[in-house]
Amino acid sequence: MIPSKPIVNPFPNAPNPAPTHDAHDAHANPKLNPFAAVNARVHKAADILEIKENYRKLLTTPWREVKVALPMLDDKGELRLFEGYRVQHNGVRGPYKGGVRYHPQVDMDEVRALASLMTWKCSLVDIPFGGAKGGIAVDPHTLSMRELQTLTRRFMHSLKKMVGPYKDIMAPDMGTNPQIMGWMMDAYGLLHGYTPAIVTGKPIPLGGTPGRLDATGLGVAMVARRVLEEKGEDIRDKTVVVQGFGNVGSYAALHMSNMGARVVAVADASGALYEKSGLDIPKLMLYAQNTGGVAGFPEAEKSSSQDTTEILNQACDILVPAALGNVIHGGNMAQIKTRYVLEGANGPVTPEADEFLGDRGVVVVPDILCNAGGVIASYFEWAQNIQVHQWEKTEHHMELDRHLSEAFAEVSRLAQQHNLSLREAAFVVGVDRVHKAALARGH
Ligand code: NAD
Repeated sequence: MIPSKPIVNPFPNAPNPAPTHDAHDAHANPKLNPFAAVNARVHKAADILEIKENYRKLLTTPWREVKVALPMLDDKGELRLFEGYRVQHNGVRGPYKGGVRYHPQVDMDEVRALASLMTWKCSLVDIPFGGAKGGIAVDPHTLSMRELQTLTRRFMHSLKKMVGPYKDIMAPDMGTNPQIMGWMMDAYGLLHGYTPAIVTGKPIPLGGTPGRLDATGLGVAMVARRVLEEKGEDIRDKTVVVQGFGNVGSYAALHMSNMGARVVAVADASGALYEKSGLDIPKLMLYAQNTGGVAGFPEAEKSSSQDTTEILNQACDILVPAALGNVIHGGNMAQIKTRYVLEGANGPVTPEADEFLGDRGVVVVPDILCNAGGVIASYFEWAQNIQVHQWEKTEHHMELDRHLSEAFAEVSRLAQQHNLSLREAAFVVGVDRVHKAALARGH
């Protein structure tokens, strides 16, 4: 039965604001197509690896793309129509793997770009998956819980032939969460029977794993520690600024502060906070969960409902963009005052800004390495579901650190040997493995 009053949406974060020019550079500037930007990086790696033209085409062309119409009756009984997408970019190394994003700006180009990043990310950290991504053009914060569930089930139903535990496995991304994965698993199970490995990032009672929820943010912190160690520095007392206080940003802030860093500013869609002595992150997480955002947190020197983008210009040792793509771009790159950029979000630095920051000696740790903790933990969850076996949380953390440390060591060695940026080296490692697998398959 349709409830007479909408049930409150379970999302802990404040509504996403109307897209700003800054945050959506890629959409505002037709020259900056996000998929073309990723492919430019693949071509650069292919140049270094001397990959032949016909293989480059295979590596830069998505294997399957689907756009689905998603009708939904809202709580008032009115029909609303949404658009959903799934792109399976490359499956040479294993089943497709990638998150599902609910955001008003989702479109085919963005999903293509994110799907291809997944191919290179899974390859770089050497887990046996190809790359995929999906999404629905919707602001989930504007839907009731019933509407959100109906839309999610419809999406899974539309993709039922494309996905499967050995075909394509979805996971949370921006605007989606474990609850949404639980509904997806149930919708798939109604057709195919109990199949926990169809999605990762599920609630624990459904076969989710305790280490998945914070894995992306924890991974960002683990990579930050390794990068600093290699430079002979310690993460303790380093100042950190984080943009985005959702799954990735909040846990990156939490784990970095647990490692002894000082998180001096954070922003989410609701506003920004500044505190020189370091914010109390566990308290702030509770506050944001209860109020829907970070704005107004009483234990901060300054709180603003405006600075969601300006926070990127705040002086700090480590800057973690963990919200939207293309937030560091030609228009603000000269104002960035940090030594390390850790890409918690996917594609937060445009190619122009990347080059500019690199020339100024800023170390930019690329998304495909920095935020790979999430997909690594998803791989652990999937493997446990397939084997009907559960790991201890400590085993999770050790394995996560091992995967990330090995990937970073390889990237760093290659970067030094061939005088490459960390991003160029990461793409060389990722592209090389996929290319070799394609050759071995006889493609
Ligand atoms: P989320 O929905 O949990 O959180 C997004 C955060 O960004 C929220 O705090 C929101 O308020 C904030 N935000 C939105 N618009 C903003 C703006 N204009 N200014 C400042 N903050 C803004 O999403 P998430 O899962 O944390 O994902 C964030 C990024 O990390 C995305 O790029 C996603 O693709 C990437 N990522 C996520 C995972 C994962 O496991 N969740 C893994 C790898 C990469």
